Amino acid sequence: MKTNEYIEMGEKYILHTYNRYPVVFEKGDGVYLYDVEGRKYLDFAAGIAVFALGYGNKEYNDALKDQIDKIIHTSNLYYNVPAVEAAKKVVEATGLSKVFFTNSGTEAIEGAIKAARKYAWLKDKSTDHEIIAMNNSFHGRSMGALSVTGNAHYQEPFKPLIGGIKFADFNDLDSVKAQVTDKTCAIILEPVQGEGGIYPADPDFLKGVRQLCDEKDILLIFDEIQCGMGRTGTMFACQAYGILPDIMTCAKALGCGVPVGAFVLNEKTAAASLVPGDHGTTYGGNPLACAAVNKVFELFEKENVLENVKTTGAYLEQKLDALVDKYDCFKERRGKGMMQGLVVEGQPVGQIVNKALENGLVVITAGTNVLRLVPPLVITKAHVDEMIEKLEKCL
Ligand SMILES: *Cc1c(COP(=O)(O)O)cnc(C)c1O
Repeated sequence: MKTNEYIEMGEKYILHTYNRYPVVFEKGDGVYLYDVEGRKYLDFAAGIAVFALGYGNKEYNDALKDQIDKIIHTSNLYYNVPAVEAAKKVVEATGLSKVFFTNSGTEAIEGAIKAARKYAWLKDKSTDHEIIAMNNSFHGRSMGALSVTGNAHYQEPFKPLIGGIKFADFNDLDSVKAQVTDKTCAIILEPVQGEGGIYPADPDFLKGVRQLCDEKDILLIFDEIQCGMGRTGTMFACQAYGILPDIMTCAKALGCGVPVGAFVLNEKTAAASLVPGDHGTTYGGNPLACAAVNKVFELFEKENVLENVKTTGAYLEQKLDALVDKYDCFKERRGKGMMQGLVVEGQPVGQIVNKALENGLVVITAGTNVLRLVPPLVITKAHVDEMIEKLEKCL
C-alpha cells in the first residue's frame, strides 16, 4: 500500500485525537527513519524524546529478543529477574530509594500523586490535602495527571478534575509561596518544562522550592519524564542543579521505545506512604519492559551517552544560536543539552515542521510557537550540521 492508502485507512479506524503529519514510517536505522515510500529522514524528534539510543541498536534489539524467548510477562504477584535488576539501576541512578514501574509517564504521575497524598494522610488523617503544580506544565492526560497539567485548554472539557490542585508560576518562587497552606502535601514541577515550550528552571527557583518543601515537610515531585535519562547532559536534569526531589517520575527514554515508566521515592517517602494494597499494575515492570530498561542503562555507560550529550549538545546549542542570529523568524533559543527549543515568530511553527518533513528532517513543536529538537542522544556533530542544512532550506 502507498502512503495515502495507509493514511486513509488509519483515519477510518483510529480515533482522531491527533492531527498527524502525513508520513507513514516503516523502519529506523541509527538516527534515520524511512517511510513506506523508502524516503529517508534525519530524526531530531526520537519519537518525542524516547528513542535515545537510535534505531536498530543491535545489542538493545538482541536483549529484547532474548527476553521474548525467555518470558514476556509474569505479573507483579511474583519477582522477576529483569525487574529486580532494573530497580537497582533506577534507584542508583536517581539517588533515591525505592521504585515502582509503570507502563507510561502518565501512570508514573498518578503513582507520585497517590504516594504524596498517602504520606500526608498518614500524618494527620485529613482528606483535603493540596498539591501545587505549575502553569504551562505537562504531566499527562489521565484525570489525575491532567489535573496537575497547567493548561486550561487541555483541562476544560474534562472537568471536574481531581480536587485540591493549585497553580503557581514556574520560576517564580513568590507565586509558589503564595499557594502554600497547611494543607499542601506536594509541589510538582518539571526541572525543564517540555511540552509547555522548553523552559529550564532557574537554579535559584529550584533551590527555593526545595527549601520551602524542607521547612514545611511538603513533598517535592520532579517530573523528569522528558528531561531525564541523559537528555540535558546529566542522567537526570535535577542533578545538574544539585537538588534532589522526594519523588521523581521517569519514562520516555527509560525503555527507549518499550513502554515503561517509573516513580521513585526517597527513603523518607518510601517509609511512610504506599503499602501493599495501595497501588498496583498488571503489566508495570514486566520482564520485557525491564529487560529494555536494563539494556538502556548498560548502553548509556558503554556508549558514553552523557559525554556525547555534553559535547555534541554544546555544538548543537552553538549552531542553533547562530540560526537565531541569522534568521528573524527565530526569536530565541531555550534549552539544555539535547532538549532544545527555538521560539518562532512571524509564521506558524507547524509550517516549518511540515517543510522540514518534505526536506527529510523530523522535528516537532512545543507550546504554541516553539520548534522542538529532541534528537536521539547518540547524534554526532555531522548530524547536527545535516540538520542545520536541512532546516535552513525550509526558511
Ligand atoms: C510525555 C510526558 C508525560 C506523559 O507521559 P506518557 O508516557 O505520554 O503518559 C508526562 N510528563 C512529561 C514531562 C512528559 O514529557
